[in-house]
Amino acid sequence: MSSTTKTAPSRPRWVADIARWDFETDVAIVGFGGAGACAAIEAADAGAEVTLFEVASASGGSTELSSAEVYLGGSGGTRVQRACGYEDSTEDMFNYLMAAGGDLVHEAKVRLYCEESTGHFDWLVSMGAPYKNTEYKERAIMALTDDCLLYTGSEKCWPFREVAKPCPRGHNLEVEGDNGGPLLMKTLTAQVEKRSIRVEYNARALTLIINPEGEVLGTVVRIDGEEKNVRARHGVILCAGGFVMNTEMLKQYCPRLVEGPMPIGNPGDTGTGLLMGQAVGGALINMDQHFITLPYYPPSSLTYGIFVNAQSQRFINEDCYHSRIASSALDQLGGKTYLIVSAEDYAHPPFMNAPIVGTGETIEELAEEVGLHPGMLRHTVEFYSENAARGEDPLFHKSPEWLKAMPPPYAALDCTLGEGAIYAAFTLGGLDTQTTGEVLTTEKQVIPGLYAAGRTTCGIPRTAAGYASGLSVGDATFFGRVAGRTCGQRSPQQSTQSSTG
Ligand SMILES: Cc1cc2nc3c(=O)[nH]c(=O)nc-3n(C[C@H](O)[C@H](O)[C@H](O)COP(=O)(O)OP(=O)(O)OC[C@H]3O[C@@H](n4cnc5c(N)ncnc54)[C@H](O)[C@@H]3O)c2cc1C
Repeated sequence: MSSTTKTAPSRPRWVADIARWDFETDVAIVGFGGAGACAAIEAADAGAEVTLFEVASASGGSTELSSAEVYLGGSGGTRVQRACGYEDSTEDMFNYLMAAGGDLVHEAKVRLYCEESTGHFDWLVSMGAPYKNTEYKERAIMALTDDCLLYTGSEKCWPFREVAKPCPRGHNLEVEGDNGGPLLMKTLTAQVEKRSIRVEYNARALTLIINPEGEVLGTVVRIDGEEKNVRARHGVILCAGGFVMNTEMLKQYCPRLVEGPMPIGNPGDTGTGLLMGQAVGGALINMDQHFITLPYYPPSSLTYGIFVNAQSQRFINEDCYHSRIASSALDQLGGKTYLIVSAEDYAHPPFMNAPIVGTGETIEELAEEVGLHPGMLRHTVEFYSENAARGEDPLFHKSPEWLKAMPPPYAALDCTLGEGAIYAAFTLGGLDTQTTGEVLTTEKQVIPGLYAAGRTTCGIPRTAAGYASGLSVGDATFFGRVAGRTCGQRSPQQSTQSSTG
C-alpha cells in the first residue's frame, strides 16, 4: 500500500511505510470517555507509559452526556445495596443478565462482570465517585435526586422474576438532577490528571499501524492538521464509542435506527474505532443490536395503562423496562402503538412527548377517535380490566403492584414511532473481544497489540429487550479497566519494522 493513499480507518498503515515515529508510548488509547479514562488509569497503575488521544477538546464523550447510572451488585451487595437492606447474590445477578441477554449473551463476560461487580463499585468509590446509602423507590428512568439505588431493568417483571430474585442494581451518583455523567467524567479526568498520563486533545486517530504478521504496533493520529505516527510498545486500546452518528454505517448494519429514532451520543460516535479494528481483522458482531427507549414513565401511574398495537391487542407487560417496551413496540405488525389509560391514572409524561390522539367516555368512543377496531379494543380492555381487578394478568403476567381495573373515561397516547413520541437510541454492536479486552478475529484469534472497550465493542449490553440502565457505563468502565490492565502489563513489542509492505 502506498503512503500517498488517503488515510482512512478502514485502511491500516504498514509499518514499512513509516519513515519515523512522531510519538512513542507503551499504551495508546483512542477516546477519552468512560472506557478510555478507566483504561488509562489502570494501564498507568500497571506501570505503563500511557497516552490518550481524544478528538474533542475535552474529555467526556457520551459518558459525560449520560446519567452515569451503573449497574452493579452481586457478592452479597455493594455498600449501598447492603445499607438499603438488599443482600444481592452473584448468582441472581448472573441469572438475570443471562436471561436478559438471551441468545446473544456472552456468558464469560457476564460471569466476570457479576463476580467483580462489587469490587468495581469499590474502585469507583476509591476514584472519588460519591454514592449515597439511600434508595430511590419510585418507578423512574433515573433518580433526579441525589439518592443512589434504584431498579433500572426488568428484574421485578415477568419472565425475569422467575429466573432470579429481584434486586435493584442501578447506582446513581450523589448529585441532584440528571448530572451523573458530568460528575463521573470530572472524577475520572481528575484521576487521569493525577497520574503522568499524556493527553492529546483535538487529536483524531485515523487508522492503525500493523506489521505483516498482523500485530498492531501503533496508530496514526491527526493533530494540528498533521498526521503523526504513534508507536505503542504494548498496544492500542480502542475506546472511541459507538456508531449511532454514522448514517452510512447505520444503513449498512442497523437500518432500524436510520429514520425515526433520535440518535443519542456525542458527535464522535461515528464508528471510527470499529472500522479501525475491523480493518486489521477484528470481527464486528451484533451490529444490528441497539438500545432504544420509549421513556413513558415517569409518571409511574401510566404503568396502570396498557399498550396496544394496530390490532387493538396488548403485546407486553407494561411494568417492564422502557427499552424492552420500545423494542417490542417496534416489532408490532401494523407499526402502531398506543398507550390506553384510565383518566384517573393519566398524568403528563415529561420525557415521552406522545400526543393524546383520543379520549372517550366509552371504549367505542375512544376507538373511533384513535382509529382502532371498537369490538377488539373493548375485548382487550375488558379482558385486561376484569383480570387486573383480581390482581391477575393471565397473558403477560404484569406484576400485581401495577394491576387494577381500568374504569372510564379513557385517553389514548400515540406512541407510534414518527408520530411525535420520542424514541432515542444508541448502538450496541461492535468489536468482538475476550474477557481480557483483546480484540478477536472472526476465527476467534487474538489480534496481538489490539484491545477495545465500551461501545466500540459488543460488551455486556447486547439487546434493547434485555437492556437495563447502567449496563453501558458499567460495562465501559469495567472492561475499560480490564483492557487497560491487560495492555499495560503486556510485554513490549519487539518488532517495529516490516520487511515488506
Ligand atoms: C443522554 C444519554 C444518557 C445515558 N445514560 C446512561 C446511563 O445512565 N447509564 C448507562 O449505562 N448508559 C447510559 N448511556 C449510554 C452511555 O453513556 C454510553 O454508551 C457510554 O458512556 C459509552 O462509553 P464509551 O467510553 O464507550 O464512549 P464515550 O464516552 O462516548 O467515549 C468515546 C470518546 O472517543 C472519542 N473519539 C471518537 N472517535 C475518536 C477518534 N477517531 N479519535 C480520538 N477520539 C475519538 C469521542 O470524542 C469520545 O470522547 C447514556 C447515553 C446518553 C447519550
